[in-house]
Amino acid sequence: MKKYKLLIVVFILSIMVLSVLKTDNGQLEISRREMMKGQLTIEEIKPNQAIALDGDWEFYWNQLIDPINYVEVEKANVDYFYVPRLWKGTTYKGVSIDETGAATYRMVFNLGAGKWQKEGLTIKMPYAYSAYKLWLNGDVISSNGEVSLNTKEEFVSRKPQVVVISPTVGENEIILQISNHRFYRGGLSKSILIGTLDLFEIREKQIALDIFMAGSFLLLGIIFFLLYLKRKEEKAILYFSLTCIVFLSRVLLTNEIYISNIIYNFNWEIGNRMEAGFTYVGVPLIVLLLSELYKSYFTLRFINVWKASLIVGLAITALLPHFIYDNLLIYLNIVQFVYFVYLSIVFIKYYDRSSQDFYVLIIGKISLVLYAIHDIYITYSSIDDTLKLQIGTYIFVFSLGYALVLHLNREFCKVESLVIQNENMLTEISKMNMELEQLVEKRTSELEDSNRQLYELSMLDGLTRIPNRLQFDNQLDCFLKQAVKDNLSLSILFLDLDFFKDYNDNYGHIKGDEALKEIAWTLNLEIKKDEHAFIARYGGEEFVALYLDKGMQETYELAERIRFLVAEIRIPHKFSRIADIITTSIGAISIIPHVEDTATHLLNMADKALYRAKEEGRNRTYMWK
Ligand code: GH3
Ligand code: MG
Ligand code: MG
Repeated sequence: MKKYKLLIVVFILSIMVLSVLKTDNGQLEISRREMMKGQLTIEEIKPNQAIALDGDWEFYWNQLIDPINYVEVEKANVDYFYVPRLWKGTTYKGVSIDETGAATYRMVFNLGAGKWQKEGLTIKMPYAYSAYKLWLNGDVISSNGEVSLNTKEEFVSRKPQVVVISPTVGENEIILQISNHRFYRGGLSKSILIGTLDLFEIREKQIALDIFMAGSFLLLGIIFFLLYLKRKEEKAILYFSLTCIVFLSRVLLTNEIYISNIIYNFNWEIGNRMEAGFTYVGVPLIVLLLSELYKSYFTLRFINVWKASLIVGLAITALLPHFIYDNLLIYLNIVQFVYFVYLSIVFIKYYDRSSQDFYVLIIGKISLVLYAIHDIYITYSSIDDTLKLQIGTYIFVFSLGYALVLHLNREFCKVESLVIQNENMLTEISKMNMELEQLVEKRTSELEDSNRQLYELSMLDGLTRIPNRLQFDNQLDCFLKQAVKDNLSLSILFLDLDFFKDYNDNYGHIKGDEALKEIAWTLNLEIKKDEHAFIARYGGEEFVALYLDKGMQETYELAERIRFLVAEIRIPHKFSRIADIITTSIGAISIIPHVEDTATHLLNMADKALYRAKEEGRNRTYMWK
């Protein structure tokens, strides 16, 4: 896997290196035979061949001489000037000259007959920072703005062009006026080419490439800027979109300077500042983009230094005069370049080689370094190589974009895993909730059970499980209130088993308990038949029953029925003095109570009736009258 990746890297790199080394002008073969003293002989011009008009041209400093006036010029002491070469740092007649001023160049080429006579020939003027005007045999064939001896009348359009010419067989005269009062780089820095109509094609190819790149960068810049507006926290997106805009501007402002086709009368004062400005901010922008993509590799101080350098760069090119920012540019370029190489070495040394980013950025960076070397070389040399390393730039921007995509993908994955984690947590929580609900339900029912048990414990008699004394007291109150309210009669039956002490003493307490239970259940079963009746164990071997709306006679009959029921159980009691089974005595009352009658009072009456039943011989009902 590693070998395979390495192979791709090596392959792409070798393509890049080849494209840098190939510095010819498209597929065109350029012949550079040096002219001597403004004289050049061209025997023949083959297809796909161009001849650079390089060499010593006649040179007249601070004079703008038209072809008509040329005859008047004193030729005895002619000075020669090498083309292509900028004025700055050179001398004219022994006196040093500067980048601003005006000059006339002249050369004569001797052309042999050939195929060209049918179609004509072309002259390709390179892009120049200065205004110029070009004559061939007395006719103006090309101009770049307006040449003038003074600043006011001068105007530069900076438009590279290819023009068709019809030279004659034999001697042809070229006169070139150049003036530069405003900008740096006076003179011609690139070769003038003379060739067949193929030169058109080459310019078209270059323009097509420029437009293609400009379109790509424009679209990328806009789309990523829109994306940034939606996700302002991702500064990497902003830096990438700005990087695209910088490259877009560079494409439009250099090579075939396509911007002059889009904007007529483009202001080159601004154009120059833009071109230099983008050179100043380009590297800081890319460094900031990388620092956003790989945050852990960069310190905050480092990022701030680059932010500051970006702002300073912008300020220098926007506010200072051109000679300052132009002179500073070369030093800045060197510092930035050296720094970038250093950064790349650090990157190669420390970056995680198992990640895709490593390979993507390595290709991009090397492409940029080659591009930068090439660009600096082209800018400060006189070679006219227009195809350049745009492919390198393109690969570089692509690699940055791809690294950004990888970065965004990583962010998405983070969010995705968070979402999944969240979902898992939610399921876990809802599961736990359900379990909790079930637990609560279980606990609630347990609580209800124990509540019921507690209630039963407090309201039921422990031995017989029929209502106890406490419940009886409540019920007696209720019965009494109801009877008073509805004017009904209330019946109380007080039961006490006969000679039960003897039963206990002879049969034992356990037997006694069993007898109590059996009697209690029998009575309870009977009483329950009437929904308005109630029975409780009052204490010991005493029971008490309540009825509503039963008259005296009816109460008596009910009491007797209960007494028979006890007897019918037939619990043997040999030690009873009145029978051989357990019997009961009952004291009963039935009265329509008044408001002032208390429960205690009524109970007392029933108790007294019971006492009377005992007194009268037991195993009987005594009805209180
Ligand atoms: P009387 O006919 O006069 O009522 O004679 P008695 O022996 O029943 O006398 P009394 O009512 O005073 O005696 C109650 C006896 O009931 C005393 C005790 O031995 C017995 N007893 C009271 N509570 C319980 C109980 O919960 N379990 C058992 N096994 N015996 C009880
Ligand atoms: Mg008793
Ligand atoms: Mg008793």
